[in-house]
Amino acid sequence: MVEKRDGAITDLTGVSRGSKELVVWGEGIDVDILKTLPKLESLGVYKAKKKDLAKIARIGELTLPSLNLRFWPEPDLTAFRPPKGLRYFTVWQSNALVRLDGIEAAAEVEALALNDNGRLESLAPLAALPKLAELTLSGGIWSKQETERLDALAQLKALRRLQLRGLDGRGLDLAPVARLQHLEALDLWARDFPMEEVAKVAAGHPAYLKQLLDLPDYPRRDEFGRCAKCDATRKQMFLKRRKFLWCPNCDKAGLDRLLATFMMAVEAARRDLDLPSQS
Ligand SMILES: [Zn+2]
Repeated sequence: MVEKRDGAITDLTGVSRGSKELVVWGEGIDVDILKTLPKLESLGVYKAKKKDLAKIARIGELTLPSLNLRFWPEPDLTAFRPPKGLRYFTVWQSNALVRLDGIEAAAEVEALALNDNGRLESLAPLAALPKLAELTLSGGIWSKQETERLDALAQLKALRRLQLRGLDGRGLDLAPVARLQHLEALDLWARDFPMEEVAKVAAGHPAYLKQLLDLPDYPRRDEFGRCAKCDATRKQMFLKRRKFLWCPNCDKAGLDRLLATFMMAVEAARRDLDLPSQS
C-alpha cells in the first residue's frame, strides 16, 4: 500500500515497478528506489524543502524525460541537478525562485514551463538551453507571474512556441516578443498589458493580430453572453482596462472606435519597431 498525502506519495517503498509517472513529496524522494523503476518517464517533486535538497539533488543520477518541481526553496537553481535526458521541465509555485542560474545544467530541455514563481530578474540563463523550443511563463490562479524584462528571448534560437499567460504587465516591454520572427505559435494574454504593448506584438505577428480582431463570441449563452437589448451574442475584445464584452449591434460605434484606436497603435508600433508591413 503506497501512502499518499494531497494526492502525492509520501514514501516510495512499495511503489509499483511498472510506474510511469509519480508525484512524490520532497521528503519521500529516494533515488535508490527510483533507479529500480525502468518505465518511469515523469517525476513530480510535490514539495521541495531545504532539508530535502541533498536527496532531491540525487535526481541528477536518474535518466528521465519529464520532471516538475514545486515549492523549490532556493533563489536560483544552482542546487538543482537535472536528470539525464531531461526534455520537459516545469518549476511552479516556487515563490523563493527569482533567478534562473543553474538551469544551464538542463541542456537537453526542449519545453520549459515557469508557473507562478517569484519575480524573475532575467531570462538570460535560458540562452544556455540550445534546444529550448517551447517556453511558458504563467501566473497562478490568484497571482501574476512577474519578470523584469523579456529581451533575452531574442537569444533563444530554437524557440518556436511561446506562452505568456497571467503576467504582471506593469512596465514590461513587449518589443522583444514582437521581434520573434520564427515563432510558430504565440499565446499571449492581451488583458495583462497596456494596449500599446499588445499593439507591438500584433504588429510583429499577423496571426496574433487576426486572432484579436476575430472577436470571439462569449462562450456562454447566459446574461453576460447575450445582449439584454437585442439578444445578440456578445463579442470579446480583451484589452486591459477596456470594456471586454461588446454587442455587435448596440455597441457597434464604440467597438469600431476601439478597434480603430488599436489599429492606429499597431501601425505606430510597426513604424517604431521598424517591422515589415503586412500585405
Ligand atoms: Zn444588442
